Amino acid sequence: MIVAQRKPFEEIKTMLKNYKKVLTLGCGTCVAVCLAGGEKEVDVLNAELDMARKLDNNPLELGAFTVERQCDREYMDVLDSKVGEYEAILSMACGAGIQFLAEKYPKIPVFPAVDTTFIGVNQTVGWYEERCRSCGSCVLGLTGGICPVTMCSKGLYNGPCGGTNKGACEISNDQPCAWYLIYERLKGQGRLDSMMAIVPPQDWKNQVPRTVIQPGYKKPEKG
Ligand code: SF4
Ligand code: SF4
Repeated sequence: MIVAQRKPFEEIKTMLKNYKKVLTLGCGTCVAVCLAGGEKEVDVLNAELDMARKLDNNPLELGAFTVERQCDREYMDVLDSKVGEYEAILSMACGAGIQFLAEKYPKIPVFPAVDTTFIGVNQTVGWYEERCRSCGSCVLGLTGGICPVTMCSKGLYNGPCGGTNKGACEISNDQPCAWYLIYERLKGQGRLDSMMAIVPPQDWKNQVPRTVIQPGYKKPEKG
């Protein structure tokens, strides 16, 4: 899932300082699961904003709503009848959801309430770890299911480097060497020959916006 963190409160408050009526919009998928931007977080943020603005003698009228996904047109149409009542929208979705929202309602200022952080996993409640940087050319088949882009400090596709030291990365003894982990995983699976495959220099496809259209589908008309 996409993992995000709420922005510092003062940053959010400053973004809204010129507005008197704002809709705080949550997203019910990734950011809700990672406790950053779902229905509960919308209510908590609105309560904080309400109190802070009252203390400033500059009251703010706040609406609260959460859609299933802010990155999916299907779930956005319900907003058509709501957004016109507000001067601005404070989105608690990831960066993709915020942009989709801003694109759908170009006349209304849209502000981010969270910082989108990474694609990661949920270790336990409230603890998330990065696992993928969406490089566009997945090599997990060669690396025993361990991502060298995310887990290696240098993002090496053909590691380890000379800094590997008894299982730790040269940047810190607390940081495991990804390529040591890859070696151990492949050894346990009897697949050490995979270490010998040379991965060519990366064609960094994640430097420009990408589009995925699954087989059997065609590019939809923009609505
Ligand atoms: S190699 Fe790593 S960054 Fe690239 S797609 Fe696979 S998991 Fe993601
Ligand atoms: S020591 Fe290991 S994890 Fe650290 S940069 Fe070198 S190969 Fe990557």
